[in-house]
Amino acid sequence: MTQRITVIRGDGIGPEIMKSTLRVLDTLDAGLEYDFQLAGVAAQEETGELLPQATLDSITENRIALKAPLTTPVGGGFKSLNVALRKHFDLFANVRPAISFKGTKSRYENIDLITVRENTEGAYLGEGAWTAPDGSRAESKMVVTRAGCERVVRFAFDLARRVGRKKVTAVHKANILKDVTGMFLNVARDVAEEYPDIEFNDLIVDNACMQLVMRPEQFDVIVTTNLFGDIISDLCAGLVGGLGLAPGANIGKDVAMFEAVHGSAPDIAGKGIANPCALLLAAAQMLDHLDQSDKAQRLRQAIAEVIAEGDRTTPDLGGSGNTEQFTDAICERLV
Ligand code: ATP
Ligand code: MG
Repeated sequence: MTQRITVIRGDGIGPEIMKSTLRVLDTLDAGLEYDFQLAGVAAQEETGELLPQATLDSITENRIALKAPLTTPVGGGFKSLNVALRKHFDLFANVRPAISFKGTKSRYENIDLITVRENTEGAYLGEGAWTAPDGSRAESKMVVTRAGCERVVRFAFDLARRVGRKKVTAVHKANILKDVTGMFLNVARDVAEEYPDIEFNDLIVDNACMQLVMRPEQFDVIVTTNLFGDIISDLCAGLVGGLGLAPGANIGKDVAMFEAVHGSAPDIAGKGIANPCALLLAAAQMLDHLDQSDKAQRLRQAIAEVIAEGDRTTPDLGGSGNTEQFTDAICERLV
């Protein structure tokens, strides 16, 4: 059975890393059919709109989108196209794996963890104001709902089960922010009881940060609220060598969107030297989501081997290969 997915080639290095990624997916024989749609500057040039209705309709219909980085022009009516897409499809779970690759310049070697960040509630509602006429005071509001906490915690446990993870850690600040993050912790404890096969623990966010730096290998899946997740997922990307190897998924009830965490890198666009790994690892997440975890694992393994051997890797990884040669090296390990 073929699965149709919406593919957005994106801006800057987007088309180059997407070309590489689709070639790898075809080599894996992932059974995908591509529905190419426009967004970002590429869309604006062709259709006059940054986020055409046809693109939204295609994602609604296919339910799965693979997206390269987009450029959001200033004054185009959007603060961020990525945020607009997340809002439109109510993509409540932001899933960011962090895996160590031997052969990269990072401080650790055995990290293999996934951060699940709640993406729609908490401190990111943008409700706040400067509340004194002389500008001497500001307030902001944090709101969480039981349903919002529950869906993201449940998602984290289901993900753990689906991809064979052993442990979920809830990160919170329930000792101080007793209401908002206390609710999150209570819900996490309740949901955990329904998953006796998955180990559960919780950590206060400050301690979690220290533990992540001191003994990152103790973590498996982390689930947390919006603001803490924002910070922790970048911390985790830093543990394994930065955003160049960082993929992300944004998952909702109906739609899931997979992307590289980095931007469109206009400084190297068109030079053919972009590192496709972040988008390739996002494609691996997509395969997990489509119940093709065996292929996802083969892909991660091939990437790991190529990086470990420094075989035709791109300049950002210290190699002298280009995007196409790097992709050749990966594809050769998949056949
Ligand atoms: P945007 O405005 O879309 O965010 P940006 O220039 O901020 O674009 P980033 O992705 O944030 O793009 O890039 C920061 C730096 O990292 C740039 O110097 C860029 O060349 C480099 N970089 C980002 N992604 C890659 C990649 N996949 N391969 C190689 N270098 C990259
Ligand atoms: Mg940027």
